[in-house]
Amino acid sequence: EMPTIYIITPTYLRETQMADLTRLRNTLLLVPKIVWIIVEDSLEKSDKISSFAMESNLNIVHLAEKTLKLEKPSKYSAHKGVEQRNRGIYWIKEKQPQNAIVYFADDDNSYSLKLFEDIRSVKKIGVWPVALVGGLKYEAPICNNDKVVDWFYAYNQRRYVPTDMASFAINVQLLYQFDDSYFERFTKSDLEGSFLKRLNIKVADFEPKAEVCSKIHVWHTRTMLVKIRKGEIVERKI
Ligand code: UDP
Ligand code: MN
Repeated sequence: EMPTIYIITPTYLRETQMADLTRLRNTLLLVPKIVWIIVEDSLEKSDKISSFAMESNLNIVHLAEKTLKLEKPSKYSAHKGVEQRNRGIYWIKEKQPQNAIVYFADDDNSYSLKLFEDIRSVKKIGVWPVALVGGLKYEAPICNNDKVVDWFYAYNQRRYVPTDMASFAINVQLLYQFDDSYFERFTKSDLEGSFLKRLNIKVADFEPKAEVCSKIHVWHTRTMLVKIRKGEIVERKI
């Protein structure tokens, strides 16, 4: 039977939030058999996102988890969306769906429908290229004989797996196998790599998707910050 795809999306309040979520919703409306876990970066669920979820005609789980403010700055850089993804993982671990794949979809990326077809066939961990990321046109697994042998990337050589959040999906069973199958907000390693390390993922486990990693099915687009004009506003009478 076709596995269900659990899509975890962190989101936070900003002028472009509804635009990003609406665009993502329109994509997901075209994907069968999914559960969309939306986790707001806030203490409580907002009315705005609650209505959005209600009107959506999608199978949505709406949660909230606020990003922790630090008393003292950490020597490691803080990653975004961590508490929210972890809240989503925790929800899944409680519900224990069995035949399922998990994908972490940030709210402002651009997703091809082909990506979800690829995700559907993941056995343990699927990997594929991501465009417009890491200071490159794309980062990608390098494959030989349908196996991943290396990674094409430039940014941060110390990464355990030099890959973006959008570049992999995992079988839900991996979350159940390891108690600490959560993201680390502060790590001297990278966010994605340290997570995959916790799941004991090895390079040999990678299942290359997107036509042996030769195609782009996801873009790490970033929505521009919009500054709303304050002060005098000219109203033109017509
Ligand atoms: N995010 C969040 N709280 C924040 C910043 C980001 O929940 O304070 C979410 C955001 O909505 C997105 C994900 O975390 O789904 C990654 O953030 P962003 O897209 O800003 O990261 P970037 O594109 O810079 O990697
Ligand atoms: Mn983003």
